[in-house]
Amino acid sequence: MTPRPYILAEANWKIVVATDYRVAVLPWGATEAHNYHLPYATDVIECDSVAAASAQIAWEHGARVVVLPTVPFGVNTGQLDIKLCLNMNPSTQAELLRDLVVSLERQGILKLVILNGHGGNDFRQMIRELQPQTRVFLCSLNWWTCVDPKPYFDEPGDHAGELETSVMQHVAPELMLPLSEAGNGGQKRASIAALRDGWVWAPRPWSLVSADTGVGDPAAATPEKGARFLDAVAARIASFLIELDATDPATMYD
Ligand SMILES: [Zn+2]
Repeated sequence: MTPRPYILAEANWKIVVATDYRVAVLPWGATEAHNYHLPYATDVIECDSVAAASAQIAWEHGARVVVLPTVPFGVNTGQLDIKLCLNMNPSTQAELLRDLVVSLERQGILKLVILNGHGGNDFRQMIRELQPQTRVFLCSLNWWTCVDPKPYFDEPGDHAGELETSVMQHVAPELMLPLSEAGNGGQKRASIAALRDGWVWAPRPWSLVSADTGVGDPAAATPEKGARFLDAVAARIASFLIELDATDPATMYD
């Protein structure tokens, strides 16, 4: 296997020196339980796959993108009581992000896309704070929301449900237990109406909400659904990367 020049972990100094990278992609996952049947690195593996597939398409269209190593720790403050769910606080994430942005800025890579793979991560406020302090253009996306999942799945689910399970069946079936061993991902509802209706938000204490750590039923998952959805997601993200590569952020509003 030859190194893919758009995957930093595979690239070498010879490739890097010769390549005018303009857009960096930072996938950001989490390390947490995903029902009984999916591995703890599910969000990391999904991020790796989405980022690589998107960057490949963008690269083939001439965009000089580079996927940075995926950050494996997400915000899991609602899962601290679940064994080996490893939390990284938002303030720590902000410091990590700042350090990486300083490196990129010094090295002249002035566009950064955070490709988020975990529902507990939210980079928008960090970007609002950091953006005025750097010349690096900062933006973020959640890979699982950039294409409407409804046409692809019966019931996409929230965490380790049909969407995530299908994607994992496609990209890492060897790391999964059979679906017969998965829980149904049943979610207990909040007793307060406003929380149930969603117009008041509070982080969910995960072990009160789900018995099997999943939220969303994985029963209808298939690798074909995962492949179709991942292809659509990668195509959409790639088109953004290509456009971003060709755009000067200083003049991008007209
Ligand atoms: Zn997940």
